[in-house]
Amino acid sequence: MSLTQMCHQEIIKHQKIFLYSIDATCGNGHDTAFLLKNTQAQGHVFAFDVQQQAILTTQKKCAHDLNKKQLSFFQASHSKMTAFIPKRFYKKIDLIMFNLGYLPGSQNKTICTQEKTTLLALDQCSQLLKPGGIVSVLAYPGHRQGKEEKESIESWINQQTLYIYTEHHDIKKNNAPILWLLHLKK
Ligand code: SAH
Repeated sequence: MSLTQMCHQEIIKHQKIFLYSIDATCGNGHDTAFLLKNTQAQGHVFAFDVQQQAILTTQKKCAHDLNKKQLSFFQASHSKMTAFIPKRFYKKIDLIMFNLGYLPGSQNKTICTQEKTTLLALDQCSQLLKPGGIVSVLAYPGHRQGKEEKESIESWINQQTLYIYTEHHDIKKNNAPILWLLHLKK
């Protein structure tokens, strides 16, 4: 099972169907497709990525699954999430997903999520989520920048009072990818 699938499985244990959700890093579209598939007919998925290539790939992947459901893309940093999401959705979002790192298969591995903008984005989640809403964060400490990013997310999480969280990773492996699920307290 891929990490993305493992993440989906963990989320589904808590919530099976979504009304409004955000993919903070749409990448190759696996999470956006998962969100869309599990979204109610009147629901909406918002997808962010800084790379046009990621948005095009995700659009293609989701084209057949649109029906009445709405999907909006923002080619922008998730650190500006609250500026892009219309105010009427504040406090109504069920789930916000982060799959960090660089776009798999991309030529340009320099376009990678950055510790500073990731934390700025995480800070905004509590304004957007409904009570009980979930933030999922999948981080990859296997490379230097990813390790620093993982450590700063860890200390960000430790300072939180708004969330309760669970952590999932393979303890037998050094620097294995890590998944956090943060639940906004009700
Ligand atoms: N590492 C994962 C995939 C991550 S894709 C895996 O192995 O499957 C991460 C995506 O985040 C990339 O498409 C990249 O363009 C995007 N990204 C990087 N910085 C971003 C930012 N500040 N805001 C939104 N998306 C960003």
